[in-house]
Amino acid sequence: SSEIRLASRPEGMPRPEDFSLDRVAHGQLEPGQVRVANEFVSVDPFMRGRMGAGRSYVKPYELGETIIGGAVGRVVESAAEALPEGTAVLHQHGWTDAVQDDASTFRAVPELDGLPLSLYLGLLGMPGLTAYVGLTRIAQLREGDSVFVSGAAGAVGTAVGQIARQLGAARLIGSAGSAEKVGLLKDKYGFDVALNYQDAPIREQLVHAVGDEGVDVFYDNVGGDHLEAALEVMNDFGRLALCGAISGYNATERPAGPDNMGTMVTRRLRMQGFIVGEVAAEHPEVSEEFRVRMAAWLSAGDVTYEETVVEGFEHTVDAFRDMLGGGNTGKMVVKVG
Ligand code: NDP
Repeated sequence: SSEIRLASRPEGMPRPEDFSLDRVAHGQLEPGQVRVANEFVSVDPFMRGRMGAGRSYVKPYELGETIIGGAVGRVVESAAEALPEGTAVLHQHGWTDAVQDDASTFRAVPELDGLPLSLYLGLLGMPGLTAYVGLTRIAQLREGDSVFVSGAAGAVGTAVGQIARQLGAARLIGSAGSAEKVGLLKDKYGFDVALNYQDAPIREQLVHAVGDEGVDVFYDNVGGDHLEAALEVMNDFGRLALCGAISGYNATERPAGPDNMGTMVTRRLRMQGFIVGEVAAEHPEVSEEFRVRMAAWLSAGDVTYEETVVEGFEHTVDAFRDMLGGGNTGKMVVKVG
């Protein structure tokens, strides 16, 4: 099989030369092991953080290490009773087309009737759960709240908008980086207002669009200018859930900070950053609660999803770079086949 490894630490946007594609030979299965052929491999913003040497919430990848992250596949050979041949599995072995390891490193997932397994990397997986815990446990969304989501057309963002609506948000405002994306936010994802931050400074656009009504909850995927824009329009006792700051992930210079932090005091705001895995550990009930509710919303047609699917494992690095540059709508996945 093949694996993609980190060859050098990227500066700015990762380049193809920062990665190597290596062949791996698998031996005979040992007792308790399975071999899995991947169907979809995930490319995620957090991977960019781990490619640098600096401090983050997970340790950096080593040079020469396989890019670890989510993938879904099927057991093709098994020496473990728990995972017979044909079982669909979710795992964290990352950027590889096939992998052989102990069965305990894979989790069996139910087949999805008529839907692709890639949903376990998106709406039904980590990004969907991130949206749910951020809204319910961090922002403590209440019925009638007015919500602003940055990065609204991405994997997490499309889930945030739809979940917020299901939980009773009164007004949904979203931002994204193209005319096509903002069109989709309004037509398909139920946003009342969608702003293209490429058109004009997001702060000006947001102030104008929000008007006197203000914003009660800000769900931030972008940081920088978007965080500053949100601080400008928050209502008293508003909550800001900081999920990501992708506008800075490839930055080679210090981004400008918000110049209006004073509103934190004058409007008695609460701002909290969070990591999905930790929130799920602190709230042991939340993963199952999310799974049950999301499955019900999806089968009732109350929520929908979007994927940008790149064909061919050898294009994984291109897919990753494209995602960082905004080439995806909804979840970006690589179809291995
Ligand atoms: P997305 O599917 O949203 O893909 C990334 C998107 O970021 C791009 O499509 C692009 O959309 C946008 N983007 C890139 N550069 C900029 C920029 N300079 N300014 C504004 N937008 C930009 O990725 P995910 O949904 O997987 O992740 C979204 C965010 O959530 C990230 O910040 C990620 O780090 C964070 N995250 C945090 C987790 C946690 O536990 N805290 C867990 C999972 C994700 P556009 O065309 O609109 O620019």
